Amino acid sequence: MNTERFTRRQFVAATSLGSLAAAAGQAVPARARAGQVAAKLAIKGGTPVRTRGFPGWPVWDPKHDEERVVSVLRSGVWSRARVVDEFERKYAELLGTKRCLATTHGTTALITALDALDVGVGDEVLVGPYTFVATISVIFLAGALPIMVDTDRETFLVNPAKMEEKITPNTKAILPVHIYGLPADMDRINAIARKHNLVVLEDACQAWLAEYRGRKCGALGDLGCFSFQNSKHLTCGEGGAVTGDAAAVMDRAVSYHNFGRGGNRLGSKCRMTEFQAAILLAQMQRLEEQTRRRWENGAYLTSKLQGIPGITPHKLYDGVTRAVYHLYPLRYDPEGFGVPRSRFLAALQAEGIPCGGGYGRLNKAPFIENTLRSRNFQRMYSKAQLDHCREQIECPDNDALCAEAVCFSQRLLLGTRADIDDIANAVIKVYENRAQLA
Ligand SMILES: *Cc1c(COP(=O)(O)O)cnc(C)c1O
Repeated sequence: MNTERFTRRQFVAATSLGSLAAAAGQAVPARARAGQVAAKLAIKGGTPVRTRGFPGWPVWDPKHDEERVVSVLRSGVWSRARVVDEFERKYAELLGTKRCLATTHGTTALITALDALDVGVGDEVLVGPYTFVATISVIFLAGALPIMVDTDRETFLVNPAKMEEKITPNTKAILPVHIYGLPADMDRINAIARKHNLVVLEDACQAWLAEYRGRKCGALGDLGCFSFQNSKHLTCGEGGAVTGDAAAVMDRAVSYHNFGRGGNRLGSKCRMTEFQAAILLAQMQRLEEQTRRRWENGAYLTSKLQGIPGITPHKLYDGVTRAVYHLYPLRYDPEGFGVPRSRFLAALQAEGIPCGGGYGRLNKAPFIENTLRSRNFQRMYSKAQLDHCREQIECPDNDALCAEAVCFSQRLLLGTRADIDDIANAVIKVYENRAQLA
């Protein structure tokens, strides 16, 4: 869009939630508030757009959360028993899967799921690098090799168009991550898996109640994994779950998470406590309403940000019927906007809008090379196999995305329309007054 015209033009306030189509990338005009065009930026000593904070996280109340926790305490039964059973039943029901297994963390859910799917030494797992470190570590911890597939910059998700070229006779699984609660392109990923006889493990650790063609993330592949760590939308401080339909696979997961009992096999111990489940049951009562609010506010924010020079909101894949926004991401172009990203972030923060630059280049994290060089991996793999893994860390689109992302926390989307207006107005204020940052 023409930058000159933008600065003079009045934005038309989006007074209605321009439908959820706005989230899919359709422009809805927006108008800067009067008086905002020429103003001193807060970072230069001006008045911030916002002085109030945003909603805090986590949230709880005496009735639901406290009563449940106290009741577990008084029962004297603190390790895995009927409260965990109840949580598993209800979470499976919520997701539309036949089974759910609660675990201590999202990380142990992923480790349990990889074991249940028989992914191990000699196997290659296709995975995108735009994710939290645990997604990659668990593949190594299983003794398998992560094979990086580059990121689709427009969606922040693994690019299925670059997936098939990475398949070798050793490829065993695809591990798509619904990062930030944005559902991955599951139709294409599942089609590739079927064609090449691969298993699909969804890392849904940021995607509670996200939907793809009306079905929940975590119910779209062979197994799904969730995290309930403190920052997550469904939380009990630390916790996790594996979800799926296949009884034999889920039975293996149950056995693994409890010393291999019931399966006469090697296992670990990752059993959720009754306290964790009690808090989750209380938190679950709010999840749908909070999720709906983030989705509506996310769509509204997209509509307000459209058309600001240098700002490109994320795109959602065709099949996405709900994104849940653990973070709300956009791409920032310093040339289009007129200032480097770091200065934009600092200026926006000074206006009272918490924001960050998203994930770093996990594909280039030193622990990857150190793991490939470790005694274990030297013993398990040939040099050719290790080199093959090494060569895949070149992901130019991911590297570019890591340099251009700007993200807002889920907390910012839990408030009102006026809160979202503040975010957009602060971005517009920084843009209009960008000369002060030169
Ligand atoms: C949080 C998270 C994990 C790990 O979950 P923990 O509960 O912290 O162990 C894994 N993958 C992704 C994408 C996550 O966001």
